[in-house]
Amino acid sequence: MQKAKTLGELKKSSYKSVSVRDEMRANLLRKLAAGEALFPGIIGFDDSVIPQIANAILSRHNFILLGLRGQAKSRILRSLVTLLDESVPFIAGCEINDDPLNPICRACHERLAEMSDDTPIDYLHPEDRYVEKLATPDVTIADIIGDLDPIKAARGGHALSSELTIHYGLLPRANRGIFAINELPDLAGKIQVGLFNIMQEGDVQIKGYPIRLPLDVELVFTANPEDYTARGKIITPLKDRIGSEIRTHYPNCIEHAMAITAQEAWTNRNGRTKVLIPEFLKEVVESIAFEARQEKRVDKRSGVSQRVPITCLENVISSAEYRAVKNHEDKAVPRPSDIYTAMPSLTGKVELEYEGEMRGADQVARDIIRQATARVFKKYFDGVPLQSIVQWFEMGGTLKYPPNASAGEIYGHFKKIQGLLDQTQHLGIKAKDDPGLLASGGEFILEGLAALKRISRSEELGYHLERQRAESPTEEPTSPATAQRRRSLN
Ligand SMILES: [Zn+2]
Repeated sequence: MQKAKTLGELKKSSYKSVSVRDEMRANLLRKLAAGEALFPGIIGFDDSVIPQIANAILSRHNFILLGLRGQAKSRILRSLVTLLDESVPFIAGCEINDDPLNPICRACHERLAEMSDDTPIDYLHPEDRYVEKLATPDVTIADIIGDLDPIKAARGGHALSSELTIHYGLLPRANRGIFAINELPDLAGKIQVGLFNIMQEGDVQIKGYPIRLPLDVELVFTANPEDYTARGKIITPLKDRIGSEIRTHYPNCIEHAMAITAQEAWTNRNGRTKVLIPEFLKEVVESIAFEARQEKRVDKRSGVSQRVPITCLENVISSAEYRAVKNHEDKAVPRPSDIYTAMPSLTGKVELEYEGEMRGADQVARDIIRQATARVFKKYFDGVPLQSIVQWFEMGGTLKYPPNASAGEIYGHFKKIQGLLDQTQHLGIKAKDDPGLLASGGEFILEGLAALKRISRSEELGYHLERQRAESPTEEPTSPATAQRRRSLN
């Protein structure tokens, strides 16, 4: 069907005015009936957050998502545009997207009086109908609602009090669409009052001039739960007008978390070096977030964002890429030690409690990586006899190699430790696999044993055992000076 180009044609078509909330509701019902996924790409919220959002939309509510950072709140709000029609008509040139059959701005009223059915019609697409604003203390009424524009007044020869002199803010520009405000509690009280007035009555005052704008907007918000519930941060009448409060959460299980990280992290590198990421390593990276969220030295109120494992995995891959290119290897296989190289992706994103601050961000990050390693190690090696490996160190074996040692070099070292490479089969690695994978798996076993304190590891000595017997060094001949130092560590 040809789209109407003028008001006259539109009136002859089947078009009816529908409010944005009725439109979202109708599309949601249609998707539900058709068994379509509601918010594709939002993982782990199928049984919690998504049904509640669906409820809020079916109830035609404004709503707020309460959650800590990195819980996909903004992403969910942006995906609401999938509930909007493909195109809706508006009066061409209107600054606030007026419905041709029901215009609210003064300019459109005047235009309609002049042009009647010849008034031109244009169309809005879903992405044009989503407006987002991060609330900060310096956001003004002018930003959100609007301001009188003296230049507009002078040019048009209008009185300043005329509606034609308004420079519209973000909210009127979101008319017939969705307006999202992130971190609502950071919005100044008087702007909250302005928002409330417009939600309640469609009335606004701009510089003392009362103006009526019965806007058609779905308002959605996000906030940190503690800020939102703190007394005095949100004016009560505004809270009262937010129909539904929906709590978001971090992924409940490691499988969901890994699926999110796989979706978001940049893992398919465009270099000539092929990247092979062992599954157990992805699990360690993901477990870092789970461990950090439980860690008492990490501030619970600010949370540990899902961006922690995402950026950590990206850094881990880069570290492996760097090493592979330097060593002229054709495959980049991340190893557990790359996670320590990736620490800059962790330390900046985690807020520490006082005790953590005292310990230092670096040390806390190291402890968390060690706990994550132990968690994954126990999953794969519960009940697996690793005594021959520990024994090698008990016999005085020590193993130290440079961080950028090639896979071949490490493979050579690991071969000397009885059972080490064989046990990588528990990680799904086969003897014929890429040496990089075997090196990574072998290092993971050593890291796991060190995390469980069955062997030791230090920057200075590499892998070793502190309770050392006097006889039979195997790997590196121990000098009397090193032996002396090691004894003093006991
Ligand atoms: Zn208009």
